[in-house]
Formats: sequence, structure tokens, C-alpha cells
Amino acid sequence: MSLQAYKGVWVFIEQRDGVIAPVSLELLGAGRKLADKRNVPLAGILIGDEVGKLAPVVIEYGADIVYLYDDPIYHDYRTESFMKAVIDCVEKHKPEIFLYGATSTGKDLASAVATDLATGLTADTTMLDVDVETGLLEASRPAFGGNIMATILCKKHRPQMATVRPKVMKALAPDKKRTGGIIAESLYIREEDLRTKVLKIVREASDKVRLDEADIIVAGGKGLGGKEGFEMISQFAKLIGASVGASRDAVEAGWMDHHHQVGQTGVTVTPKIYFAIGISGAIQHIVGMQNSGMIIAINKDPNAAIFQSCHYGIVGDAFEIVPLLTQCFAQV
Ligand code: FAD
Repeated sequence: MSLQAYKGVWVFIEQRDGVIAPVSLELLGAGRKLADKRNVPLAGILIGDEVGKLAPVVIEYGADIVYLYDDPIYHDYRTESFMKAVIDCVEKHKPEIFLYGATSTGKDLASAVATDLATGLTADTTMLDVDVETGLLEASRPAFGGNIMATILCKKHRPQMATVRPKVMKALAPDKKRTGGIIAESLYIREEDLRTKVLKIVREASDKVRLDEADIIVAGGKGLGGKEGFEMISQFAKLIGASVGASRDAVEAGWMDHHHQVGQTGVTVTPKIYFAIGISGAIQHIVGMQNSGMIIAINKDPNAAIFQSCHYGIVGDAFEIVPLLTQCFAQV
């Protein structure tokens, strides 16, 4: 099959309990730019049970077409059933570029689809572009411990696939006047042909932090010296309605749980305000928070690398500065 037979940009629309994952909306924004550059349509593939009502939302956020697989067999996410639907759709309509959120579902599905279709997949992408002439997807991601950005090309196979980290692309503002086509697809899958069955869904405890949704993050690093230092910044965070983040070294020291970790091997965050306290500013940390609206660093070393990446820097001891800030905000 010639590569020219493949056209258009697709986004896998991840949904759970009838709610579209924010990363899918972000990818529609990113996909729209790629599709406009290539002058091709942008499509969303939506799979689930009774999810038809979400198709117009996919159009509002930028898609021209929605391929809809709506059937009770897709009630719960299962690699096999979703993969069959995706492969059916790819074989029928042949997209040139296909994006998935780098979530646990997106990563699982994309790798299964890539293996079955024997095509390339760039994982955990943070930048996307397309060559206007050739349609070659330029998918970039941090490599070699975050020291360089690697741009990965898939020259010989189609579709070109990538998983993209949540929070690095921007969703478009929804436009209810946007028009597009909804194509109901059907594929006969028998329950007995699937090797997995969802018996029970156990929800995680709801007190887990959602750093990627926080407006303000107060993050601490090794400079906080121990759990007491984190108690100090947690108090400050509580006062200003912030979530607490941490560097990897602080997490590895056992001062905070892993789900607080910001950075290359943690969460990517884009809060309005990010406090980096006692954090040196290693590149692996910076890649996870550099798109924050305002970065305020507190570090006692005036030469700390974090001061190259912040909007405001305070040179000083966190154990003097943070109590002062807490005192000030307590009076507001
Ligand atoms: P340090 O580098 O030890 O810095 C502590 C800072 O605190 C120093 O700048 C010091 O001047 C300052 N300080 C000390 N005392 C005080 C005080 N009293 N008041 C104010 N400042 C003070 N790191 C991440 O954060 N996230 C990741 O996702 C991540 N992924 C990684 C992936 C790979 C493959 C690798 C190789 C590394 C990764 N790292 C990650 C680790 C990263 O390279 C750094 O080692 C780590 O970010 C350093 O953490 P830190 O800034 O807390 O500690």
C-alpha cells in the first residue's frame, strides 16, 4: 500500500463514564494545527457504550469527522475490543497521523495497535509538527535523561502514531457553531472471542492529589532537608489553596509519595503559579513545570540553575522565607 493512500490526522478520544479526557481535547487542538498545515481533515475516533452524545463535543473542539463505535461491548476499556475497533477504522479510512494521550489507556492501546499494524509509535511526545510537503510527522520528546530533545520520524510506515503527554498541548475554545460529520461505524465482536473480562472497577482513594489540575503548586526539593520541611510547605500550600509537588530526589528520600513528583518521570504540570523551593533546577524537573504561568524559585544558592528558569527568584533559606510568606498570607 502506497504511503500516499493515507490522509488526515486522527485523535483517539479517550472517555470514561461519558466524560472526555482533557488530554483528548488538547490533542484535538494540536491535531487541528497539523491538519490545517497539511490541508487535510481532522477526525476523532470515539469508542464506548452510549457515547454518541459526546460526538458533537469532539466537533466543537476542532474535529471535522467523528468515527463512532457505540456498543455495549465497549462499555469498559479492554485492549482487545478497542484495538479491534481502531484497526477496523484505520484499515477502512487510512489516517496519515494518529495521536493518543499518553495516559495508561492511550499508551496501552497505541502500543497494541502499532504492533498489530506494524507501524511506528513515538511515546511520550511533548512537541509535534508536520512537514507540509511530505506529511512526515515530527514528534519530539526528551531523551538521554532529558538532556536533549529527540525528534523521531516514521518514514516508511503509516499511520504515523504518537502518544502525547497530558497538559503540553492546548485545547481550542469549544465552538458550538462548528460543523462536522458523525459516522456511525459497526464491527461485530463476540464477547466469547475476547480473552479478558472486567469483573470489578476499584476506584482509587479520592484524596490523591491531581497535580495536573492544580492552579497553584508549591513544590519542594532536597533543600527542604526532610519530612518536616514538607510539613512547612504543606502548611503554606494549604493557606493559599495550592497542591504540593516534589522533586524526584525528595520523593526518593521518602519525604513525599511518588504521585507528587513533577518532571520527566513524574507529572507534567501547567499551574498558574509554581513555587520551586529548595529545588536545584535539573532539566528533568524543568521539563515537567516549565510551561507554568509564573515560576517563583526559593533557593539559598544564587547560582542554582532554577534561577535560569523562573520568573521571580528569592535567594535565601527556605526555612526563613516560607514562614515569612505564610505569615504574610495569613494576614490577607
Ligand atoms: P538537589 O539537586 O540536591 O537540589 C537541592 C537544592 O536545594 C539546591 O539547589 C540547594 O542549593 C537548595 N537548598 C538547600 N538547602 C536549602 C535551603 N535551606 N533553602 C533553600 N534552598 C536550599 N527529577 C525530578 O525532579 N523529576 C523527575 O521527574 C526526574 N526524572 C529523572 C529522570 C532521569 C532519567 C534522571 C537521570 C533524573 C531524573 N530526575 C528527576 C532527577 C534530577 O536529575 C535531579 O537529580 C533532581 O531533580 C534534583 O532534585 P532536587 O532539586 O530536589 O535536589
